[in-house]
Amino acid sequence: MTKQDLFDDIEAEHDRLTALSEQLWENPELSLEEHDSAALLEEALREEGFTVESGVAGIDTAFVARYGDEGPVVGTMGEFDALPGMSQAAKAEREPIEEGGPGHGCGHNLFGVGSLAGAIAVKRAIERGDARGSVVYFGTPAEEIGAGKVFMVRAGAFDDVDAVVSWHPDWLNTPGRGSCLAVDSFEMRFEGESSHAAAAPEAGRSALDGVQLLGNGIEYMREHVAESVRIHYVVSDGGQAANIVPEEAAMEVMVRAPDRAAVERVSERVRDAAEGAALMSGTDVDVTQTGGMYGVLPNDALADSIRSTMDAAEFTLTDEQESFAADLKATLDDPSYAGAPPERREEVAEAAMFGDPLDATDEGGVGSYSTDAGDVSWNVPLGRFRAATWPTGTPAHSWQAVAAGKELGTAGMLFAGKVVAGSLYDLLTDEELLAEARAEFEERKGDREYESPSRPTPTPTNLSDRRFAASTRAPVVASDPAT
Ligand SMILES: [Zn+2]
Repeated sequence: MTKQDLFDDIEAEHDRLTALSEQLWENPELSLEEHDSAALLEEALREEGFTVESGVAGIDTAFVARYGDEGPVVGTMGEFDALPGMSQAAKAEREPIEEGGPGHGCGHNLFGVGSLAGAIAVKRAIERGDARGSVVYFGTPAEEIGAGKVFMVRAGAFDDVDAVVSWHPDWLNTPGRGSCLAVDSFEMRFEGESSHAAAAPEAGRSALDGVQLLGNGIEYMREHVAESVRIHYVVSDGGQAANIVPEEAAMEVMVRAPDRAAVERVSERVRDAAEGAALMSGTDVDVTQTGGMYGVLPNDALADSIRSTMDAAEFTLTDEQESFAADLKATLDDPSYAGAPPERREEVAEAAMFGDPLDATDEGGVGSYSTDAGDVSWNVPLGRFRAATWPTGTPAHSWQAVAAGKELGTAGMLFAGKVVAGSLYDLLTDEELLAEARAEFEERKGDREYESPSRPTPTPTNLSDRRFAASTRAPVVASDPAT
C-alpha cells in the first residue's frame, strides 16, 4: 500500500469526521469540563475497535485509546478544550452565539478530530496487515489551563510509546523545529494580622505588605538573571477593604526560561524572596507550586518525515470555504506572523492559507510560549506541525479563529489527519526512521533527567477563573510571535 491509501481512507470518512468536529464546536467545554467532548471522541475510537482507558492520571476527561499488537508503538494527541468568553458564530463579523460564553478559539475541536482521523487511518493499515505495531490516541484535556498532558506523562501513559506525532491548528502548513519556554507557576499566599487601619495599625501585620515587598524583590532580581528569563506576576488577592489591615493577600508568579534548570534556579530565588518579604512584613507565607512544565525538545528527524508527508497530502477546499476565508481575512487589521522571524515575515505573510507547506518558521528558535507538549517531548520523541485551519494571518484565541473552526477549518483538519497518518505509518514501517528519531531524542536530552515538579492534580475547583488570565500560554496579540 501507499500513503495515498491512508489519505483515501480519511477522505472516505469526510462526512463523519467533519460532523464530529462540528459537534465539538457546537458544544464548547472548558478545561477539565470537557465531558461530552471526551465521550464523543472515546465513542468514535471504540467503534473503530480501539481499547479505551478513561480517567487517566485521575483526570476524568483524560483518556488513552489503543489499537494493535506486537511491534513499535506510535501515538498522536488530541486536545478538545475551549476558551471562556470566546463564543462566536461562524460568521465574518463579531457575533457571539452566547454573550460571554465559551468558544473554540484555539481550534481544539479540529485538533481532537484531526488527530483521531490520523489514528483511525493507521489502525486500518494495521488491521489490513500493512503495518505492524500499535497506534495510540492520547485524549489530552485541559491544554488551555491545567496542563493535562503533564499529569498523563507523570502517570506513565507515554512510557511504552516509541514516538508521537502531533499538530496544532494555525494558518499555515509547516513542520515544527523549534522549542519554547519552560515555566514554573506559584501562588504565594501571605497571612498577617487584621486590625483597624487608622485606630490600631500597630496591632496589624499587613499581608499585602508581604505581597508588595515580594514584588519589589522580583523587580530588583530582574537585573541579575539571564536575559532570557521572564518573571511575571499579578496580585490575585489584595485584601478586603482599605480601612482593614489585610490579613490575607496573595500573588501569582510565573518564571519562564528556555532551559528548565534556569527556571528552577530562579524559582528558588523567588521562593527565598517570598520568605524575605514575610520576614520584613512580620507575616507568614505559604508557597504553592501551581504549575511547572518543560520546554519542547525538537526532533528534526520527525520534522523531516512530517514535511515529506505534507508534500504528498492534498489539501482540498470548496468554493464556499474559499470565499468565507476571504471574508474573514478581510476583518483582520493586523496579521499574525505565526512566530516567523522578522526576515521571513514577508514570505510567510504572502503564503496563502492553503498554499504549499512552508519550511519551519521556528527553526533553532525558542518560541515565547509554554505548552504541556513540552513534558511529552522529554519522555518520547515528539514530532510537531501546524496545519492551516484559519485564514492567513489569523491569531489564535481570536473570534476569527472560532468562526473558522466550524466548517472552513475542517479542510485543514483533514489535511492534518493525513499528515498524522502518513507520519505514524512511516514510523511503523521504517525502522531506520524510528531509530533516528530515538537517537536524536537521546542526544538532545543528554544526561538531563526528566523530573516534573510536584503540585496538585488539576480539578475544576482548583482552577480558578483567574488562572485563565495568568494562563501558561502567552497572550496572543495580533503581531505576537506566539500562537
Ligand atoms: Zn491550542
